[in-house]
Amino acid sequence: MSKEIPYKIYLEESEMPKQWYNVRADMKNKPAPLLNPETHKPMTVDELSGVFCRELAEQELNDHDAYIDIPQEILDFYKMYRPAPLVRAYCLEKALGTPAKIYYKFEGNNTSGSHKLNSAIAQAYYAKKQGLKGVTTETGAGQWGTALSMACAYLGLECKVYMVKVSYEQKPFRREVMRTYGADVTPSPSDTTNIGRKILEEFPGTTGSLGCAISEAVEVAVGTEGYRYVLGSVLSQVLLHQSVIGLESMIACDKYGIKPDMIIGCAGGGSNLGGLISPFMGRKLRGEADYEFIAVEPASCPSLTRGAYAYDFCDTGKVCPLQKMYTLGSGFIPSANHAGGLRYHGMSGIVSQLYDDGLITARSVEQTSVFEAAQKFARIEGILPAPESSHAIKVAIDEAMKCKETGEEKTILFGLTGTGYFDMVAYQKFNDGLMTDYIPTDDEIAKSLAKLPKI
Ligand SMILES: *Cc1c(COP(=O)(O)O)cnc(C)c1O
Repeated sequence: MSKEIPYKIYLEESEMPKQWYNVRADMKNKPAPLLNPETHKPMTVDELSGVFCRELAEQELNDHDAYIDIPQEILDFYKMYRPAPLVRAYCLEKALGTPAKIYYKFEGNNTSGSHKLNSAIAQAYYAKKQGLKGVTTETGAGQWGTALSMACAYLGLECKVYMVKVSYEQKPFRREVMRTYGADVTPSPSDTTNIGRKILEEFPGTTGSLGCAISEAVEVAVGTEGYRYVLGSVLSQVLLHQSVIGLESMIACDKYGIKPDMIIGCAGGGSNLGGLISPFMGRKLRGEADYEFIAVEPASCPSLTRGAYAYDFCDTGKVCPLQKMYTLGSGFIPSANHAGGLRYHGMSGIVSQLYDDGLITARSVEQTSVFEAAQKFARIEGILPAPESSHAIKVAIDEAMKCKETGEEKTILFGLTGTGYFDMVAYQKFNDGLMTDYIPTDDEIAKSLAKLPKI
């Protein structure tokens, strides 16, 4: 029984998920435990609670509960910008002349412009509930900092953001959005922290990296009364919150009898990909259905396709717990010509384990081809996509074109994580024909991996 598929599928309020789904509960091989960076013993909730607020520390270590209730206050906030539409890309299908059916889940319908708000409100909520005064964080391209600023403003929490210097300079408007929501924004590396001063001394003129901004934010959180640190990706708790993307998608698909063959997401730290695929992966793990899952990463920062699966530091300053993940090494800094986001050196522990188990495949794509896909998508489907999201668009189009050759009518679902209004410096480079591709050499990656901690 298949109903006419609308251009956009919006769930009714009563159909919205009331619980997050924790894919770890259904994984046979659980992600490896986080380790204390000094003792190399598995982190306990008590230890994690010094950095994260208590309930988030518990979620981080929770490998067994498949469903976790979404608190009412968070459900109320979600209502301000959710459900996110599941869109049938009729225009793109027609323009490509493909027999494939293409769907995308659009997460850009909120002021922060991306899916990151789904976890920002959850993390800010638990911090508030614990009676904390404020939170610190890092932001790369700026979407996470913006999302967290919005969530903190809503709940009346203070918010200190360490923003990777190159973005701080290239994206002054992102910074002003954060300040409008009341956040305190500092370019990283900065001279406000010990680690920042050390990095500036060692690498004067550095444009910064996420790993370095994380170290600064953690240092300030741990050293400030009533503060904790929050992180917008990579962590298992973030994938848990982002499962709302996959749950809404699955409910919408089931309602209209849509069965995706292939689910595609861009992968920076793995949170949108993990959130989108989680409930579908749950079905696969339980033997109820089968799907092909594809992670798409930049060729300039290829942690899954060229990294090692090993314990590594999550940050440059080596203050965070060690995580087993696909990594390029915590000292890896993508080339400055890399414009498209997704510049973190590592990958979510959950996504890493699923990839290592062969349940997810991965591809890397070069940024000029990503921007070509972005431009095509903008002209055909109307939405100006974020460069990060455009990695998924690129592979979705590639797959749809393969279907055109073979005549297969595959159903493709991809995550359109956000809009690209604040990425116009990158688009300008592309439009002026000045964008180039940079692929790190084997030697560069090997040098970085040689510095992995010996566990
Ligand atoms: C942050 C971000 C990403 C990448 O982060 P993940 O944790 O890998 O999802 C992708 N798209 C957009 C729009 C983002 O803001």
